[in-house]
Amino acid sequence: MSKVLIIGAGGVGNVVARKCARLPEVFSDIMLASRTLEKCEQIARAVGGDRIKTARVDADNVPELVHLINKFKPDMVVNVALPYQDLTIMDACLETRTHYLDTANYEPRDVAKFEYSWQWAYHDRYKEAGIMAILGCGFDPGVTGVFTAYAAKHYFDEIHTLDIVDCNAGDHGKAFATNFNPEINIREITQNGRYWENGKWVETKPLEIHRPIAYPEIGERESYLLYHEELESLVKNFPSLKRARFWMTFGDQYINFLNVLQEVGMTSIKPINFKGVDIVPLEFLKAVLPEPSSLGEGYKGMTSIGCQIKGVKDGKERTYYVWNNCDHAAAYRDVQAQAVSFTTGVPAMIGAMMALTGKWSGEGVFNVEEFNPDPFMAKLPEFGLPWHEQVDIPLPVEKNR
Ligand code: NDP
Repeated sequence: MSKVLIIGAGGVGNVVARKCARLPEVFSDIMLASRTLEKCEQIARAVGGDRIKTARVDADNVPELVHLINKFKPDMVVNVALPYQDLTIMDACLETRTHYLDTANYEPRDVAKFEYSWQWAYHDRYKEAGIMAILGCGFDPGVTGVFTAYAAKHYFDEIHTLDIVDCNAGDHGKAFATNFNPEINIREITQNGRYWENGKWVETKPLEIHRPIAYPEIGERESYLLYHEELESLVKNFPSLKRARFWMTFGDQYINFLNVLQEVGMTSIKPINFKGVDIVPLEFLKAVLPEPSSLGEGYKGMTSIGCQIKGVKDGKERTYYVWNNCDHAAAYRDVQAQAVSFTTGVPAMIGAMMALTGKWSGEGVFNVEEFNPDPFMAKLPEFGLPWHEQVDIPLPVEKNR
């Protein structure tokens, strides 16, 4: 019986709230708070039965957060607002000695750069306060870290290469839309690529390296090497990794739109003056693009996200592939969300459940791969994310090299 405060009533917040609401034995009291109260109320009305309390909060404002936490007294705060709010929410949790969980690492607004250093710096203070922060508990980061920990625990003596492969083979019927917050998504894709090799980071131009990779039940899709945040924690927590890369699929149409938007300056985060007002082009672009939470209805096709790993077991080379496929339409039937919000919100709920039921415990700041992967893996299929594995097979990522 625990109280949870969910911050952020967007695509992912909707999924976390609805999934928590179905588990009164774990989440006895739920509050959903966000910048726009109406969005919280809409979700609470859809759930019904007064299961979800709502509040307006500006998560950039620590005193406001502290006031809300002191009033509701949650055991844990689930942060599914934006990466810009990670530090203010972590500060408020520290001040009120409340456990914390998020799905994306901190990013300053004025630099398109994300890394764990800012949040890892809270470790000693969280430890002293006797509370726990779980970082990056969505799908990627999140399940990909748990998959890697599970592989390392059960199938390998040492893991040597890791390729995280993320395919969205869905069609939402819009000319151009992003599946999670457009601002964060475009900042991620338009920055340089980066991967880990032989003890150092190798940098590439944005979307420079790409190749077709085959995905289960989907087939081959052009996949682009990106820098993704879980690579940073995984190479730290699995020092035997000689190479770690992240691949994501994009269709030609998506890339064409993105190129045009970039060429005309719409993806810039440098403010420009328009009719006497300073505006950030990317923030303006976000305002005119569809909201991720609005894409669910009629979205067809599936996502496939997994980890392809090579290493050794009992002196022999071994390969391993573990993945989940998630159908957009099935996600919509379940919680009125598309699969990208679904595959993020369900692991966030499971992570909160792990902490609140004592399956994951600790004092300080942790990435998901530092915990026992087994109870989390056991819950994934139960809440709509079945996973599959293959051992000692040719890895699809190795094919069109
Ligand atoms: P949305 O844009 O749909 O939702 C974000 C929500 O946060 C909105 O409701 C927004 O309010 C609210 N918010 C923004 N700023 C504030 C603030 N200052 N105070 C209070 N609330 C605020 O994004 P998503 O739901 O798609 O994404 C949520 C998070 O999940 C992001 O951090 C994203 O990076 C992460 N993510 C992680 C993934 C993973 O696999 N690990 C995958 C996908 C997303 P308003 O409605 O008023 O704008």
